[in-house]
Amino acid sequence: MNGETILKVADYYAPDSFNRIKALADTLETPFLVVDTAIVARKYDEIRACFPYAGVYYAVKANPAPEVIALLRDKGANFDIASIHELEKVMALGVTSDRVSYGNTIKKSRDIRTFYEKGVRMFATDSEADLRNIAREAPGSRIYVRILTEGTRTADWPLSRKFGCQSDMAMDLLVLARDLGLEPYGVSFHVGSQQREIGAWDAALTKVKVIFERLLKEDGIELKMINMGGGFPANYISKTSDLETYSREITRFIKEGFGENGPGIILEPGRSLVADAGVLVSEIVLISRKSNTELYRWLFTDVGKFSGLMETLDEAIKFPIYTGKEGEVGPVVIAGPTCDSADIMYEKLKYSLPENLAIGDRLYWFTTGAYTVTYSSVAFNGFPPIRDYYI
Ligand SMILES: *Cc1c(COP(=O)(O)O)cnc(C)c1O
Repeated sequence: MNGETILKVADYYAPDSFNRIKALADTLETPFLVVDTAIVARKYDEIRACFPYAGVYYAVKANPAPEVIALLRDKGANFDIASIHELEKVMALGVTSDRVSYGNTIKKSRDIRTFYEKGVRMFATDSEADLRNIAREAPGSRIYVRILTEGTRTADWPLSRKFGCQSDMAMDLLVLARDLGLEPYGVSFHVGSQQREIGAWDAALTKVKVIFERLLKEDGIELKMINMGGGFPANYISKTSDLETYSREITRFIKEGFGENGPGIILEPGRSLVADAGVLVSEIVLISRKSNTELYRWLFTDVGKFSGLMETLDEAIKFPIYTGKEGEVGPVVIAGPTCDSADIMYEKLKYSLPENLAIGDRLYWFTTGAYTVTYSSVAFNGFPPIRDYYI
């Protein structure tokens, strides 16, 4: 995948940015994550420029650090929230409830009530039981129904199947929402995280269009909003089109499907705003071979599946790894430090890393600003959660 060549820093970070990260990293003991918030700011500006007509709701779960939330708050972002804990966190940082959407379709009645009491009026749903809970605990609120999407094969981290419902059910729910005194407001979908196939949005929007038209014709319900979720790419080993290409294609789908004065559009980027801003730094604990004749080395580092690299599950996300060393490269298996054999990051895909790597050398895991810190276990084998620093 990353072939026989050593990756170039410049393909991932501007020199001044990497130098700043490295300068801090050099003063710290591994493992830890450093996030350059200037990159988050730039990614936010970029998505706003690419989709000037869309409201941006940051998916807080991607990286809920106060530094990130405060930056996006000041830039005027809204927030996609999945739990009362995330809600308390963003509100403690001064985000008002009108900038919050409760995007999780799986929620307790009492949590719906808490959101309502704090002023949140926009809720996602994909089931009748949840909708009835919302009608009771958050009367009069705006409802958007999440539909199932395909395209799981082309997303590196699929988010389908567990969330969403068939279009027919979505329409039933929106009619029921009206009958229960709620405001049937829109439709949402998530095409899968790190979605490499832009056509996945087209396929989802085609379904949404049918829902909009049929509800208007058959039930007199005029929906006002499409929530296109996340799925926008970060810069890993497997390359994707750039965001501008995504926006050009998706905007064309929207214009063709809904006309120039179509419904309001919401985006919920998580990964694409924060992943590129982070570098996770680890140290090589051990290098070994399993037999005298084995062709590849086993490389054990002080970070693993239980300390931030959860998305290496099934080798789904292929993080670029930089060593700072030059010379001949050779294949390695890369594994974490814990006493669990699931704690292997890459085995099927053999990364090519320098032959002269030694115990104590550092590995720089690029593009790790999203879905790392909060996935870190509390104390498996006694290892503390990964530390994170924001510059
Ligand atoms: C996780 C999540 C997102 C963010 O998706 P990314 O692919 O990380 O951008 C957006 N919306 C919802 C509802 C999510 O659960």
